[in-house]
Amino acid sequence: MIPFDSFAMVDWSGGNDTGPRPRRDAIWLGLVRHGVEESPRYLRNRSLAEEAIAGLIEAERRAGRRLLIGFDFPFGFPAGFARGLTGRADPFAVWDWLEAQISDSPRANNRFDVAAMANGMFPGTGPFWFIGLRRDIAGLTRRDTRAGHGPPERRLADASGTFTCWQLGGAGAVGGQILTGLPVLNRLRRRFAGDVAVWPFEDRARPVAFVEVWPGLIGDVVKRAENAGGIRDAHQVRLMARALARLPAPELAAMLAVEAPEEGWIMGLGHEDKLRRAAEGLTPPPLRDDCFALPVGVDWTPADQALALLRARLHRVVGQEQVDLSGALGRVVAAPVTARRANPPDPNSAVDGYGFAFASLGEGDQILPLVQGRAAAGVPYDGKVPAGRALRVLTGATLPDGVDTVILQEDVSVGTGEIAFRAGIKPGANTRRAGEDVGEGETILAPGRVLTPADLALCAAVGVARLEVCLPLRVAIISTGDELAEPGHATRPGQIYDANRPMLSALVCDFGYEVVDLGKVPDDRDALRRALDRGAAEADVILTSGGASAGDEDHVSALLNEAGAMAEWRIAIKPGRPLALGLWRETPVFGLPGNPVAALVCALVFARPAMASLSGAGWFEPQGFDVPANFGKRKKPGRREYLRARMRDGRVEVFKSEGSGRISGLSWAEGLVELPEAGGEITPGDSVRYIPFASFLRG
Ligand code: AMP
Ligand code: MG
Repeated sequence: MIPFDSFAMVDWSGGNDTGPRPRRDAIWLGLVRHGVEESPRYLRNRSLAEEAIAGLIEAERRAGRRLLIGFDFPFGFPAGFARGLTGRADPFAVWDWLEAQISDSPRANNRFDVAAMANGMFPGTGPFWFIGLRRDIAGLTRRDTRAGHGPPERRLADASGTFTCWQLGGAGAVGGQILTGLPVLNRLRRRFAGDVAVWPFEDRARPVAFVEVWPGLIGDVVKRAENAGGIRDAHQVRLMARALARLPAPELAAMLAVEAPEEGWIMGLGHEDKLRRAAEGLTPPPLRDDCFALPVGVDWTPADQALALLRARLHRVVGQEQVDLSGALGRVVAAPVTARRANPPDPNSAVDGYGFAFASLGEGDQILPLVQGRAAAGVPYDGKVPAGRALRVLTGATLPDGVDTVILQEDVSVGTGEIAFRAGIKPGANTRRAGEDVGEGETILAPGRVLTPADLALCAAVGVARLEVCLPLRVAIISTGDELAEPGHATRPGQIYDANRPMLSALVCDFGYEVVDLGKVPDDRDALRRALDRGAAEADVILTSGGASAGDEDHVSALLNEAGAMAEWRIAIKPGRPLALGLWRETPVFGLPGNPVAALVCALVFARPAMASLSGAGWFEPQGFDVPANFGKRKKPGRREYLRARMRDGRVEVFKSEGSGRISGLSWAEGLVELPEAGGEITPGDSVRYIPFASFLRG
């Protein structure tokens, strides 16, 4: 197969003109032209659509590019229809017949009458049904009361659930689209004779291919985009054009290798996963299965070494999508964002005052006659200000021709038709140069940036309304332990409430990720296996708590070991028993300790930066501060220690107990004191490192 250079997707409509305002259930055209995604085009009626498609074919042919255009309606009818209608088992005989019969204008078309005419060629009631008009039509029924109508209900490609070609109207029906669509395609095919191949009926070695393909094949990707706002049809054509453009050539070839001489086929049927992956954007490769391996012979891994290993081995695992500014806060930029225009776009005034050409000033104090009119923000002055004259200008006004300098109104005495001011103003005073903030085409945001409110202002100012962002990292959370009860529920003897799941869910939410709550799982290997399977299917990373050591009931580590991609990280920190890191079906698992204090510390210190890498934001280092201690402590050498802490009056204090079961201490704390591996004595006033919890949130 010769590959294509450009890919378009058309969402057709059998209805009348849909008006000037872009809306759903109209005709939409999505295009990736030579690798560049264009904004979806709204086409309010079929004659505009026909011209737009013809224009596209002409442009791409002129540029020597090969073009694939997808349409979302069948190119053929169920076997036997063509012969019954035209005497020949040739789909194009049906195209010709329809083109000859259908008359179509933006306000009305005769598709129901044509269907009735077609019905007349078949035994019984004929195959078509449904009338979308008030008047009755002889030979066409309003409801499906057909009997003995000849051709089969469906094509081979049409699953039992989808609408049949015979239903001419009602939400989701395609019959009307076929009757109004095929005449247009037939005309285009003639107009570009020899250049267009209609798939799968014709030889594909032509520069333009018409292909039947349905956005429903990537329905869940469309749904996701739609949830972020915008018109469904626009997302459909944009994402399908993208999917087609990004399909690896062998996958596209495999999808096109179909024999269906009379009925046609839906391209991509049975390959939905590949289309979906392509529509979601660049999906990075999975992690290597040795990504959590530790150097051999190491017993206790120093925290920094553990972090360096994670940093080196983890990378972005999420795909990407486009969102509007309104849905972009907190999302991770996936592709460099460049200014579509400069900020400011034109030179303008920074103050309210009077503008003139600096070069036209004489020596000493000045008296300048005023020009009639004024320049205000959004209301520019049309004319040119002559040399030696001044114009009233307001803040934000574009500088008119003949003005390069503005004097502040407070520095001016205003007379009748003239102003006076002292000598000494500098050329260009009180003005802003075009592009002095951002030049057109400049990169304003780099991949990995987590979008802030100010970033959105910057995007808006330079004309960027949509952004390519990473899909949100989905984080599955599982608590393990026979002893766990759901907060608010009755407990059996020996049970405690599951404190980790609410804490970890909230934490993940604060990080800006999507929580997939998988509940609590008893100490049972099969139950845990099922939970991990779900996590791998529904999330990009799994956080478990409990069962991460090497004891009898430590099933997280046992299962990860069984899966062969587990490392038991004995990290030299306190609190924190071994952290179990592994992959479950290519999905990274952070097996956090069960103890809530240790779980939180390990989540912040290890899972936090790791998740930032996975999310596309890149490695993350929380900002710490060296501050005087308000406590004393003797520390043993060996492990790095984290103490629950908070700042008061410029000093850091620590919780009264280091007991690792004290959840109240976690709640009391506003951050952590980090004590280095070396031992020693801390006395009040010594400088220690304090990391506020807020430092862990966003970089
Ligand atoms: P484990 O790591 O499973 O041995 O658990 C260590 C300690 O943490 C035990 O005292 C558990 O009862 C406790 N623990 C485990 N999971 C939770 C949880 N989700 N909420 C509160 N405590 C827990
Ligand atoms: Mg346990």
